[in-house]
Amino acid sequence: MFAYLDNAATTRVWPQAAQAALEEMTAGFGNPSARCAFGQEAAQRLRDHRAGVARALGCRPEEVFFTSCGTEGDNWAIQAADAYGRHRGRHIVTTAIEHAAVLEPLKALEAQGWTVTRLKPDRRGHVHPEDLRAALREDTVLVSMMLVNNELGSLQPVAECARLVKDYSPDILFHTDAVQAFGKVPFTPEGLGVDLLTVSGHKIGAPKGIGVQYIRAGLRLPPLLRGGGQENGMRSGTEPTAQIAALASACALWEAQGRAFREQMAQLKARALHELQARVPGLEVVSAGDAPHIFAISLPGYPSEMLVRALSDRGVCVSSGSACHKGKPSHVFAALGLPKRTLMGVLRVSLSPESTRADVEALIEGLSAIQRERVGL
Ligand code: PLP
Repeated sequence: MFAYLDNAATTRVWPQAAQAALEEMTAGFGNPSARCAFGQEAAQRLRDHRAGVARALGCRPEEVFFTSCGTEGDNWAIQAADAYGRHRGRHIVTTAIEHAAVLEPLKALEAQGWTVTRLKPDRRGHVHPEDLRAALREDTVLVSMMLVNNELGSLQPVAECARLVKDYSPDILFHTDAVQAFGKVPFTPEGLGVDLLTVSGHKIGAPKGIGVQYIRAGLRLPPLLRGGGQENGMRSGTEPTAQIAALASACALWEAQGRAFREQMAQLKARALHELQARVPGLEVVSAGDAPHIFAISLPGYPSEMLVRALSDRGVCVSSGSACHKGKPSHVFAALGLPKRTLMGVLRVSLSPESTRADVEALIEGLSAIQRERVGL
């Protein structure tokens, strides 16, 4: 039995979501673009699923564009800035703690002569609206700011920042990566005031291989993929109906029980932070996180990679940072300006509604055992 505490990397698929996918793949496998009855039924189910996802996200069905993952959505937003704003300028503002899915495509634009300003967070992992205001320029075409950081759990002031940006110039696109926020903190795209918002299914109990890009109604962007005209001509390719059915099922669950899930995770996190500090000597809380499911700790003097492996040997799954930064200290923790010993011993712990006190107990026991072994007890 594993104590799985790496839910920011990915989550177990809800059984009802897996069942919805199975039915779609076996009983209702039609192509929604096909004219036959089988295809038309698939098209109707696709419309229903899109409506369900839109309801959970708090937007209109025509603002939901299915993608393959969060990475695709983030890349799409940056490509959109290139196509949409290139004639006005070549400056983008983002934060130093975005996911690689934002930072890497930005590096590619820099190589083509764009300028990117990366806002630095404070010690608690928050960026400040006044820093954003100071960074805006005549030639700024995009601001990309994540809603919840995937390693710290810190919540960024996206609504305030989007307002500030639109006051400065309504022509600047605002994108938020909401991959770690969807379900975990309540929001609507309209309430945030963003133009583009990215979600990934496998962080909320849907399978890997499905994401959503919210594109504000009225915003005219070029297509991401050209072909058969699916997704209203914006992202061609036969829709992955099984993954979409599973995503709609997971969304329905979060819509119905999201508040209870959030309270449950917040309580477990508070308890975990309290117990870890009380029972593991020397343990530091690097980030208590604003979101209910992520926090970061450090055991100075114990390298993260060693801790992850030693915990894993004891059946406890955590991460040394984003799963995309294997082996080196993540740019997110580095951006906090932590002392080197703290930085090198960082662990990210991330919960799901299925996480239990027993999982937390296993983590505490595991860390204590590793410490005892180190001092030869
Ligand atoms: N953005 C954030 C904040 C993430 O945490 C992740 C995944 O860890 C991604 C983007 C990428 O999402 P995906 O794995 O669906 O490509």
